[in-house]
Amino acid sequence: MARMPGTTWKPLTTNFTRKKTAKRRVILHVADSESTSIHGWMSHPSARASCHFYVARDGSIEQYVDTDYMAWTSGEGNYNSIGIETQGKSDGPWTDAQCKALARIIAWAHKTHGVPLRLMASSKSSEHGIGWHRLGVDGRWFPTLPSMLAGRTQRGGGEKWSSATGKSCPGDDRIPQIPGILDAAKTLTAPAPKPARQASTGGTGKYTVKDGDSWWSISRKLGVSMEALIAANDATPTTTLYTGQRLNTGRARRYRITRANVLNVRTGPGLRFPVLGSAPKGTIITATGKTSDGWVEGATPYMASKGQAGWWSGHELTEEK
Ligand SMILES: [Zn+2]
Repeated sequence: MARMPGTTWKPLTTNFTRKKTAKRRVILHVADSESTSIHGWMSHPSARASCHFYVARDGSIEQYVDTDYMAWTSGEGNYNSIGIETQGKSDGPWTDAQCKALARIIAWAHKTHGVPLRLMASSKSSEHGIGWHRLGVDGRWFPTLPSMLAGRTQRGGGEKWSSATGKSCPGDDRIPQIPGILDAAKTLTAPAPKPARQASTGGTGKYTVKDGDSWWSISRKLGVSMEALIAANDATPTTTLYTGQRLNTGRARRYRITRANVLNVRTGPGLRFPVLGSAPKGTIITATGKTSDGWVEGATPYMASKGQAGWWSGHELTEEK
């Protein structure tokens, strides 16, 4: 059984073929109807037509035929196609809600049936992916390639998806919307972004939560991604913050040289930054780790001037909070 979640299941009892076939295409149509449902019409034996899904202008979706079975939407293309009809007359675009619903169905068809997320170039049997009725409809007056509005005649033949000539389905205003709908479907199927690498909590700076702070506002203040900030604190986006709480910033510790070239002065933990030359006051150094004895290591080498390599000494450093 292949039924899409979040749709209204209104099974037809006639006008489809109860035979399991692999689905390699999604083909888009317009019903030339302003009804919010065409279930009644498709239930009539004389209709001799059906579709798997119907998308109304408000984005609501009805499913009429299990996608394992064959609906009668696209003539010679029915055997491996998922057919979607949509509310509307031939002219005018799909609503935003319809575009979003179509993207959801395409994403679902990709995950459930392996329909490739690409635009079909014609109705030829070798073509799989996302198509629209016009690809398989004849009409000498359709525009020529590379216009998306070209029909079967202009595309060098292929399966005949309609016995009618010149059928505009799904319409000149809707066909150009299809690449955007496909992009939206790709976004829906994209794997979740990899979690940010767990920051070394020992080596990151600290931040004290203030009134009105949120994970988002703190991440903006610190210049780190919200994901990295949350990961550095072993938290989730819904973890509650309270005023005065100490957070790991998820950012390397930053030290500013507050006095340069002073002798034997150091504040805070000793630093083992290998550096080149001598750094002026105000220079910011980032450190990525902290050793068990409280020393900070792994600085970004400072290379303001080419000189001899050395260890930090004789500089006063203050950690930036
Ligand atoms: Zn059609």
